[in-house]
Amino acid sequence: MPNNEFSQIPMVDLKEELRLIRSPILETLTEVLDSGEYIFGEKGEKLENLVAQYAGASYGLGVANGTDALQLSLKALNIGPGDEVITTPFTFFATGEAIAQVGAKPIFVDIEEETYNIDPSKIEEALTQNTKAIIVVHLYGQVAKMNEIMKIAKTNNVRVIEDACQAIGTEYNGKRVGAIGDIGCFSFFPSKNLGAFGDAGLVVTNQRLLYEKVSKLRNHGSEKKYHHSSIGMNSRLDEIQAAILLVKLNYLDTFLGKRIEIAKRYTENFINLLKAPPISEHRNHTFHQYCIELDDRDELASELKNNGIASAIYYPIPLHLQKAFHYLHYKEGDFPIAEKTAKRILALPISPTLSVQKQDYIISTIKKFMKNNG
Ligand SMILES: *Cc1c(COP(=O)(O)O)cnc(C)c1O
Repeated sequence: MPNNEFSQIPMVDLKEELRLIRSPILETLTEVLDSGEYIFGEKGEKLENLVAQYAGASYGLGVANGTDALQLSLKALNIGPGDEVITTPFTFFATGEAIAQVGAKPIFVDIEEETYNIDPSKIEEALTQNTKAIIVVHLYGQVAKMNEIMKIAKTNNVRVIEDACQAIGTEYNGKRVGAIGDIGCFSFFPSKNLGAFGDAGLVVTNQRLLYEKVSKLRNHGSEKKYHHSSIGMNSRLDEIQAAILLVKLNYLDTFLGKRIEIAKRYTENFINLLKAPPISEHRNHTFHQYCIELDDRDELASELKNNGIASAIYYPIPLHLQKAFHYLHYKEGDFPIAEKTAKRILALPISPTLSVQKQDYIISTIKKFMKNNG
């Protein structure tokens, strides 16, 4: 296939997605503009209820973004200076940043090769008297080993925050992520599986007390106007973003299904050539990213680029080796699996709107590369 067949295949094709939903989006935006209600209104409340319901949680609270969702969750659990929070070093920076932002200390635990998520068998050795919580990340949309993690948390009296920013709709033993631990965090950053047209996030929980705390904290520690009982934040999800998300929520399951379909085709084609993610019957992976692993990752990335196909590395530097975390005194070699994965991982385009022709073109380009280099 000539490489000018497609202008460019991006990682996510938000423009193509917009083509499908343009008219209901314009309609709802007009409604919000005419309502004169822009923060704390009908749309936001409806979204909170529907996302909570979708995740299987009793309560939902819109916040400004996924990072704030994590920070507010930590604060609601009274986590701060002197406390330790266990998490994975192989995640987006925000997971570790939120822990540091509330004044607590991030404690990293290496990942499993199989899921790229925190390895439950290594959590216990990282627990100390100061451990207050574990932030579990469902990376790329794949659920972490929640049974094991929840058991460790219960036994040791620590709380579990789910960073489900990449995993809305992912299922585990009949439950959905976000509602398995004590409190769950979603991001609606535009490129996420449910994306706004700006920043937005949401916290879900089954615990009334945590709901009340986040509710107050996101609004300057205030329940009653101009009465402030604690130091909070300004972290809200505005009506315009809520309205957009309400429209897009109607498409979420269809789009997740498409992602899984594309992932299945990829894996069927790659499985004997390189490390590709397994596809399960259950929806325990919703493929926010579809990542392969190989030795000559960088060579493949440039070959793809030469053929007009985008690819990306999530994430090239594990958190324990980030400059911002030098003060924690971790060093190269501390988390060998995370470090090895960072050198070998490559994400491929997986927009729900990616056509079969484009999928085939990506598959054949990779197969050709592997034949010549594998
Ligand atoms: C996107 C993301 C966040 C942060 O979400 P924002 O809405 O961008 O603040 C946190 N954790 C993970 C794993 C993410 O992918």
